[in-house]
Amino acid sequence: MAKIFHRLVTPEEALKMVEKEVGELKPLGVEDVTVYEAVGRVLAEDVFSPIDSPPFDRSEVDGYAVTARSLYGAEEDNPVLLRVIGRSTVGVMPSVEVREGEGVEIDTGAPLPRGADSVVMVEYTRRRGKLVEVFRSVVPGENVAQVGSDIVIGDVVLRRGTMITPREVAVLASIGRNRIKVYRRVTVGIISTGNELVAPGRPLKPGKIYDSNSYAIYSMVKEVGGLPTILGIVRDRYEEMVRLIERGLELFDVVITSGGTSAGPGDLVYRVVEKLDGGKLIVHGLRMKPGKPTLIGIAKGKLMFGLPGFPVSAMMAFQVVVKPILMRLMGATEEVYSTLSAKLPMRIEGARGRRRYVPVSLVEASGEYRAYPLLGSSGSITTLSMADGFIVVPENVQFLEEGEMVTVTLFSQSIRPADLVYIGSHCPAVELLFELMGRPHVKIINVGSTAGWKAAIRGEADVAGTHLLDEDTGLYNTPFLKRFGGAEKVILVRGYSRLQGLLVAKGNPKGIRGFEDLLREDVRMVNRVKGSGTRVLIDSKLRELARKTGLHFDELTARIKGYEYEAKTHSAVAAAVAQGRADVGVSLMYYAKLYNLDFVPVGEEIFDFVMPKDRLEKPAIKKMIATLKSEKFKAELEQKLPGYKAFKESGEIIEAQPGKCRS
Ligand code: AMP
Ligand code: MG
Repeated sequence: MAKIFHRLVTPEEALKMVEKEVGELKPLGVEDVTVYEAVGRVLAEDVFSPIDSPPFDRSEVDGYAVTARSLYGAEEDNPVLLRVIGRSTVGVMPSVEVREGEGVEIDTGAPLPRGADSVVMVEYTRRRGKLVEVFRSVVPGENVAQVGSDIVIGDVVLRRGTMITPREVAVLASIGRNRIKVYRRVTVGIISTGNELVAPGRPLKPGKIYDSNSYAIYSMVKEVGGLPTILGIVRDRYEEMVRLIERGLELFDVVITSGGTSAGPGDLVYRVVEKLDGGKLIVHGLRMKPGKPTLIGIAKGKLMFGLPGFPVSAMMAFQVVVKPILMRLMGATEEVYSTLSAKLPMRIEGARGRRRYVPVSLVEASGEYRAYPLLGSSGSITTLSMADGFIVVPENVQFLEEGEMVTVTLFSQSIRPADLVYIGSHCPAVELLFELMGRPHVKIINVGSTAGWKAAIRGEADVAGTHLLDEDTGLYNTPFLKRFGGAEKVILVRGYSRLQGLLVAKGNPKGIRGFEDLLREDVRMVNRVKGSGTRVLIDSKLRELARKTGLHFDELTARIKGYEYEAKTHSAVAAAVAQGRADVGVSLMYYAKLYNLDFVPVGEEIFDFVMPKDRLEKPAIKKMIATLKSEKFKAELEQKLPGYKAFKESGEIIEAQPGKCRS
């Protein structure tokens, strides 16, 4: 029986529903820890200072403690002579008293002697035995930190609910605290559900996938200050689930599962909740995208979260509903998230009635941030590794317009700046390039050739990889300098060529030789998505074939089995052939080797780099160009990547030069 999501609720409504069920979400307890163990914990007491800080008037510099009146009128060419009557060093209260015409030698941090009101820096003095010449006057209070100027006795220095960072630790230690009360950490048991799951570290059998959610959830719980424990993978079996979840609820404050929450017949978690001891489903379905099939339940008086199976959905649902609840259970009253504002470089659609959460990668351009939407599917793991945070498209908004300012909620407290931002088409040779460049910190956003061009023209990418074929001229990349209107802003740098061809099973059992074989009854192909460079190539070859056979193009493609099946990536093509779902597909020779397939060459395509002119002086870009030109790169390219060839002009600017493929 398939479950229908009757009432989707917003994350805020979900929080209210939870509180209605379990009462106000309060900290679970208080414990006493040493100050140096308190980082990442939430303070459970208001901290008052038992002392003044500094506890005595002290010198901030090395020099001479004086009364300011003694040095009145002292100048470079009119020094004042003082009698040195003693010395004040750190850790000891001095017993001397300073009068007019006298000075006491004093160290940084040492107590000011009686009678002194200021300190003249040693740099403005010259010692002459028992006397000292002073070349500058001072004002009363100069270079002196007065008692309590930092903290006054009885002051509240830190408030309950504060998240303790190294800065708070320093404050606590400076007022003499060595132990402190903090809220107890929430203990969390983590369970992954699904017959297809295998724990990382084990071999992967056909049809299985690695369990990434347990590990991601573990880390997120840890990041918010909780104490996670992985309870393992449970099969899609009702009784097993009930048993493991009940065990988790006995041992931990909260249980988080992933998978099995959607409306499919194999998805059991919501039914399991109601079978648990005292179990009740509080929320089933969030008005958000991704993350809709999320549930919150209560059993044995404890909270249980069922997150969706798709990794991106699970992560988003955690950020949006689980994190705020865990934080409240640990007493954090501060803002849970860090945000910043950024400009949106492309239009994004809303989710019709659901609030859409879009992971973004941040890129800096002309002093402001651009938030690049990472629009991979919810199953895409790389989406997450590229994401700095997410933006929200409200439920009642149809789309956010290109150029609009948006608020980015950061996944972590900091974002890492990149030496080089690469946006564009994916290519394994780019990795080799970065390796030979000495592994700069790069941000790679694979959005395809066309989006790469646009990003470079807008100045968001330092470099964009492109392999676009202009069917009319048969030229790669160069015609697009004019077509995309970027000739003033960007240059094109010659890259290398990649051999494209037909990927077939090892030994070529069907004897496939060329595109005409696609018309055979016993041959099934795997196509590529429209707009990809490879699809342009496939269709131009098929048009050629149509002319030869006298068939109309549509007639021809209608006869080709698998023409409708559009793979998004090179490796999806190779995998389809390797797994026997197709007999042939067009891809790079490199992928044929990677998947141990046979290869029938079709032609070479050219992969070039678009760079904004104002980046050419950037160290990482200079290095990239030098590397492209280097013999080492050219040699390793051809040796490590089958089917790749460098050009004599690799690394040269090729604005108007032809880029015809060598086939
Ligand atoms: P489900 O919600 O169980 O229908 O799963 C939705 C998708 O997420 C399926 O493709 C699952 O294979 C995948 N998935 C479920 N659990 C995990 C997990 N722990 N790690 C990675 N992927 C998962
Ligand atoms: Mg499942």
